[in-house]
Amino acid sequence: AGKSTVAARLAARLGVPHIDTGAMYRAVALLALRDGLSPSLDGGGEARISELMAAHCLDVEVGPDGTRVLVDGEEVSREIRSAECSLMASAVSALPAVRRALVPLQRRLGELHGGVMEGRDIGTVVLPTATLKVFLTASPDERARRRHRDLSGTGTDESLDAVREQQRRRDLQDTMRAESPLQVARGSVVVDTTGLELEEVVERLLAEVARVLESGA
Ligand code: C5P
Repeated sequence: AGKSTVAARLAARLGVPHIDTGAMYRAVALLALRDGLSPSLDGGGEARISELMAAHCLDVEVGPDGTRVLVDGEEVSREIRSAECSLMASAVSALPAVRRALVPLQRRLGELHGGVMEGRDIGTVVLPTATLKVFLTASPDERARRRHRDLSGTGTDESLDAVREQQRRRDLQDTMRAESPLQVARGSVVVDTTGLELEEVVERLLAEVARVLESGA
């Protein structure tokens, strides 16, 4: 939690696009939820999700205000932020068929726009030769507090304990899965943001950008 805000702010300071890949997994999750699937994805979930991705049009627009996601022309950028969608996104992102569909799209967006690309496997899988790779981390308590604060802003009334528990389950799913598990990419700069203000993290990253540019990358 917190990485989207950091990525957006960093992109704004650098005057480059912010590409949020989590939003794409969330859009697929929304298709699955609207189809009545549950995060356990029992009974042919992967095949059904492949059908849904083929039947619907997912559009990603990268602009100065970040990544907008459209499903069949309908803007869903807000709807995909719900807690339900978070859990479902974690489930669908473990499916090879989903990653096979989204990763090439993300590479293309990276090639077209460049900028700050945010997601769990960008440094390891999507853009392993990126000029600068950053792995943001924070203590579980701090991450749950941030997520809870973000969710409160959207009008949901999840308790802090519920958010912490959902986060624990998502972490487990994301790190244990066979397909692109969450891991630190080789050569990335690891930044522990516990106790740091947003602007302090952004300044730290700007310094890293300056460092790689000075080194002639
Ligand atoms: O970052 P965000 O919380 O929006 O991502 C939603 C879900 O999508 C994550 O829980 C993660 O499982 C998945 N994801 C992923 N790979 C990415 C971005 C997101 O697996 N590059």
